[in-house]
Amino acid sequence: NKILIRDLKIEYNNKMTQKMKENFLTEMSLRKGLEQEQFELYYQPQVDSVTGKLIGLEGLIRWHHPEEGVKMPGSFLELAESTGLIFPIGEWVIEQAFNQLENWKKQGEDTLTISINISSRHFLAPSFQPFLERCLQKYDVKAEQLIIEITEDVAIEDLEVAKKRILALRTYGFQISIDDFGTGFSAFHYLQHFPVQEIKIDRQFIQDITQNEVSMRIAKSIIDLANMLKLKVVCEGVETAEQCEILQQIGTPILQGYYFSKPMRYQDVCHWWEETKNV
Ligand code: C2E
Ligand code: CA
Ligand code: CA
Ligand code: CA
Repeated sequence: NKILIRDLKIEYNNKMTQKMKENFLTEMSLRKGLEQEQFELYYQPQVDSVTGKLIGLEGLIRWHHPEEGVKMPGSFLELAESTGLIFPIGEWVIEQAFNQLENWKKQGEDTLTISINISSRHFLAPSFQPFLERCLQKYDVKAEQLIIEITEDVAIEDLEVAKKRILALRTYGFQISIDDFGTGFSAFHYLQHFPVQEIKIDRQFIQDITQNEVSMRIAKSIIDLANMLKLKVVCEGVETAEQCEILQQIGTPILQGYYFSKPMRYQDVCHWWEETKNV
């Protein structure tokens, strides 16, 4: 028995060392990736369900790893979070968005929005707001065109700071959106306390909306609630024409998902946009 426990300990230690080694290497390559600009913001269109027009883009980060190819956010954000690299990564994302908005402005386009994802930890950090203020000074961009997506867990982290932060950002004109709405525990609590402008209904409620009456009713009640509170509502993960049709019947949400387009490189957004304008 003793030997067994000792073996388990050795195995455990080996595994830990292995995991720590991996994390260490990933951290190093993340740092290098930032220095060498290996990240790219892909964009996914958001479409008005009434007019069919493009109203904005959500930026989703990709990492062009020199050896491993394109890495999805799910494979590196957790480590970025635990190492604090989420701060420089988040700031990089913000600057990308400002750059893009300024380019549009130069081309006379000043109504489209860009949504970005900000981790709770970064959103609550003291450096977050000053960074946005600096960007507003540096770039010729209206704050209204930037939508900051946060998740319900900012409320769990620090309700008071989160509330103050949202109010302060509002005075500049930035829009705040609650991502993955409905998946947390405190959806209503959140709406009661946070003066946000938009909610995004999580894909899990949209997925089986055509077969599952309950999902459909949940989606409808979230849309109704959003309308009553005068909030914009975005449905994520729309994949089929049937889903679109039902969502149009039960409300007038903004739609986003593979049915319209996967997230794509900026050049491809331009082509996509030209093509959809012509239909
Ligand atoms: P999210 O913000 O909920 O983004 C939606 C995810 O669903 C994206 O995955 C998107 O590619 C995917 N998606 C969009 N439409 C569809 C659809 O019709 N069907 C299906 N099955 N999936 C769809 P992605 O790009 O892998 O991002 C995963 C998560 O990583 C995001 O979830 C977000 O939480 C986080 N993330 C992405 N980019 C950033 C970033 O720049 N900063 C931070 N902090 N987090 C990010
Ligand atoms: Ca999002
Ligand atoms: Ca989401
Ligand atoms: Ca998510």
